[in-house]
Amino acid sequence: MTRPRITLIGAGLVGGLLATLLAQRGFRVEVFERRPDPRVAGFTGGRSINLALAERGLHALRQAGLNEAVMRQAVMMRGRMVHDRDGRTNLQRYGVDDREVIWSVSRGGLNMLLLDAAERAGASLHFGQRLLTADFAAGTIELEDPAGARRTHAAGLLLGADGAGSALRAAIDCVTPLGERVEPLGHGYKELEIPPLADFPAGTLPPALAAARARGERFALEAHALHIWPRGGYMCIALPNAEGSFTVTLFLPNTGAHPSFATVRNAAKARPFFRDDFADALELMPAFDVDYDAHPVGALATLYLDRWRLGGQALLLGDAAHAIVPFHGQGMNAGFEDAAELAPLLDAEPGDPAAVFAEFERRRRPNAEAIAAMAIENYIEMRDAVADPHFLLKRALGEALTQRAPRHFKSRYRLVSFTRVPYAYARERGRAQDALLEELLRGHASLDTLDMEAAAARVRAELPPLPADA
Ligand code: FAD
Repeated sequence: MTRPRITLIGAGLVGGLLATLLAQRGFRVEVFERRPDPRVAGFTGGRSINLALAERGLHALRQAGLNEAVMRQAVMMRGRMVHDRDGRTNLQRYGVDDREVIWSVSRGGLNMLLLDAAERAGASLHFGQRLLTADFAAGTIELEDPAGARRTHAAGLLLGADGAGSALRAAIDCVTPLGERVEPLGHGYKELEIPPLADFPAGTLPPALAAARARGERFALEAHALHIWPRGGYMCIALPNAEGSFTVTLFLPNTGAHPSFATVRNAAKARPFFRDDFADALELMPAFDVDYDAHPVGALATLYLDRWRLGGQALLLGDAAHAIVPFHGQGMNAGFEDAAELAPLLDAEPGDPAAVFAEFERRRRPNAEAIAAMAIENYIEMRDAVADPHFLLKRALGEALTQRAPRHFKSRYRLVSFTRVPYAYARERGRAQDALLEELLRGHASLDTLDMEAAAARVRAELPPLPADA
């Protein structure tokens, strides 16, 4: 069967992987990316410097034969290292052991690896080519280069992986309204840096870390954790980078009473705020003032669409279809799952893209909606609940029940991060499990007063067995 030519917009994370997966299946793939080639010009992502890769994303990378190369650049994160105001820390493991961990990867490194893979598989990549619009009746797209020169190009099957501000989405929306709704979170983020120990200016390291540096250690905090400073309505997190630094992200309300980005406007305001709330992190950021003033506040929002496609002509995926807030560390993972779902579907039915796009949307959209909701819920859990006694008690009960009834109880976080059961299933199952935990804990302030065998028996009786792949 003849295979349609693929015109893919966007060579970011999802575009890079999808181009690879389609080219590996023999599709002729051309990719148009508005930025210059990061392998030549350097990476200018504009979004987070590193991100968390979990099983869904890893599985998609395995389909392209890229998991091992990516893992060579990744840093294992075993759990959340919670920092309280007094600088005490406590590691809350994500899973039961080191088979259930997430991985911190560099966005730039991963993007460049994917571009190399796409080219190796035969995709042709065109940089400095911004999609302006599409004429679906004529089957053409309009592109603009950095000098402002425009050209019309005959398009193949159009796939939009051009991110949250997708130009292809805007073009489709002009022909078929997509029901677009963007819900801003009302909170933004700012990135800061804890450098590798070797890069601290002389005399700025606390004595214990100066000794660690002398022993040749690289990281100023525990390397194998996602660090969180939960403070109620706001928080900081930090993810490790392979060379020994951490990218710290401050999340705050955009406006309103202190603290918000409106009141913590510059380094002079931020320094006393950090001294009160994040003192142990502040002492590890020698370039705090410069970074705080130089780095922008990023916006956070969720994108909802009622439709992702235009007949058999065009389809959106990744952030172009479902941008979410980053608190479950799943935006890229969900986009990678899209790519791994679409490539075999197209491969099986290359002559009927309308049917393939409809099937893709049927499978993926409920799951995109579920992870969007869970990502917002996880913000509340991360910034408030990881330090809340009731949350910790529920978590401890969940762990005890997992040991006693492993086929009937698995935390929602583990279902999302360490399995590939559909997100919509994970959300529903999480609700049912949470309701049962609340019931079991009614009247108990500690697990000591609970009959654990009776609780496990209820779990086995009331929660159906988990799917085999969970
Ligand atoms: P993008 O990565 O945005 O790529 C889109 C590409 O299209 C870009 O290269 C862009 O230049 C190009 N483009 C845009 N417009 C045009 C145009 N008109 N013409 C041509 N090209 C165009 N996800 C996780 O899984 N784990 C995490 O830990 C995580 N952390 C995050 C932290 C933050 C602060 C943020 C903001 C996001 C985070 N995410 C995380 C989400 C993740 O970044 C996105 O889901 C992911 O980047 C989506 O990939 P994409 O390829 O769809 O879009």
